[in-house]
Amino acid sequence: MAQVGTFELAVRLGVATVAVVGPTLLFLGLWRLLLWLRDDELVKALAERGVVEAPAPSPVDVLAGASGGSECGTCGTVNVRGADVCRECFSSLE
Ligand SMILES: [Zn+2]
Repeated sequence: MAQVGTFELAVRLGVATVAVVGPTLLFLGLWRLLLWLRDDELVKALAERGVVEAPAPSPVDVLAGASGGSECGTCGTVNVRGADVCRECFSSLE
């Protein structure tokens, strides 16, 4: 096997780092963009007018309601019973 110089090794490590971290950052950026673009009030208004089907509650919402979970004092989100932090705003539930 041929000797690899320090510079070439640094370049290879840089390329490998970009190849590993790049797609992850792009995915997280896309996820953030989609969350930013989501308009819950618009979907709710359209569902009330019958234009679109009302979105089904998420399993976490159903579980939190059925378990008699505690309501967050900060944002009002109902959390699963026994949760330590709010699943929406991450404030402490005590
Ligand atoms: Zn909260």
